[in-house]
Amino acid sequence: MVVSTINGTSPLSHSNGTTIPLSTFSRNSFVNVEKGDPVAFRPYWEKVRDECTVEIKGDEWMSYLGDTNNLCWYMVPQMRDAILRLHNVVGNAVTKDKFLVLGTGSSQLFQALLYALSPSESSHRPINVVAAAPYYSEYKDATDILQSRLFQWTGDAALYDKDEPYIEVVTSPNNPDGTLRVPVVNSGVEGKIIYDLAYYWPQYTPITDQLDHDVMVFTFSKCTGHAGSRIGWAFVKDIEVAKKMIRFVQLNSIGVSRESQIRAAKMIGVICDGYKILKSIESDHLFFDYSKRLMKERWEKFKGAIEKSKVFTLTKYPTSYCHFNKDLSEQYPAFAWLKCLEGIKDGESYLEKLKIRTRGGGRFGVDAKYVRVSMIGTEDEFIELCTRLSNAKRE
Ligand code: PMP
Repeated sequence: MVVSTINGTSPLSHSNGTTIPLSTFSRNSFVNVEKGDPVAFRPYWEKVRDECTVEIKGDEWMSYLGDTNNLCWYMVPQMRDAILRLHNVVGNAVTKDKFLVLGTGSSQLFQALLYALSPSESSHRPINVVAAAPYYSEYKDATDILQSRLFQWTGDAALYDKDEPYIEVVTSPNNPDGTLRVPVVNSGVEGKIIYDLAYYWPQYTPITDQLDHDVMVFTFSKCTGHAGSRIGWAFVKDIEVAKKMIRFVQLNSIGVSRESQIRAAKMIGVICDGYKILKSIESDHLFFDYSKRLMKERWEKFKGAIEKSKVFTLTKYPTSYCHFNKDLSEQYPAFAWLKCLEGIKDGESYLEKLKIRTRGGGRFGVDAKYVRVSMIGTEDEFIELCTRLSNAKRE
């Protein structure tokens, strides 16, 4: 990365050899790293913008229907083919003998799955929904918002000790702490498992296995960074579960925007074409090579800033062999999970005073001394975040 200087002053240097360029951010404004808006990869998409342009004429894509021959009737064939091709290129999931269900973001599919995996007989009590803490903060709210009679949020999967039916959400790599996860519930009753694989892409983690679970959910948002397209998908083994999910999407939004599907299919096509003609193009033109390099550089700078501050500790990640990149690699999660050292009880309030907006541990079901920080915001924001963290001193 090019290190820029402003007015001839030097950038900040860290003991691990990284430097942080001077930021152009106003000192009085907040650095907002509370949300996970994945705009970090925009410079890549700017470079290939012409290849990705999609033209949609006035008379095109008017129907509700995408493909009446497919169980998922609102999905256009281009979208289905692009998703299958992407998993074939990356090798992160077994797609054979599974039903592909498209959603308006994976958030919609989470709700569709709660409906589809709940017992249908009205005599049943609501099924318990759990995830190991720290868990993605939206699961709780999304489960409880309608106060459904079908399902209810029951909290930390590690503490679940009821002999009652349950749904466990396994997020791997996990949001907020980036750890790789497996189911943890220990119950006499067999549960249903939703694998949320939003971050199982090569820029965030080595691709160690081609996962083959009964319910696997992915999102375009965190794969390419096009969160605004609202495209998510699930691979589902059981046709009855797939049918119920499709019925939910039908009642909720009568399908998924066809314009979005066409654009997403185009972007995915550009990524996959790059890997097809691999040898003839520079690696910065390959999306996962570019995005992984960006995440690695950010993490190195970030670790330098954390070391300098002496206020926080970071989660440690293992190194594993990545079948996609064919190398040994660390993880570079989309979020950093900070633990404040002794004396700071509330990390979110502490960082608020430094004009850094974060999401505190309480939202993820753990202690307030933890905070989540987005690593996938704009470059400007990220540089200012590192600068402010480097200067943080214990109160
Ligand atoms: N699951 C996880 C773990 C996430 O972090 C997110 C986005 N923050 C989602 C699901 C939802 O993604 P979307 O609705 O944009 O597909």
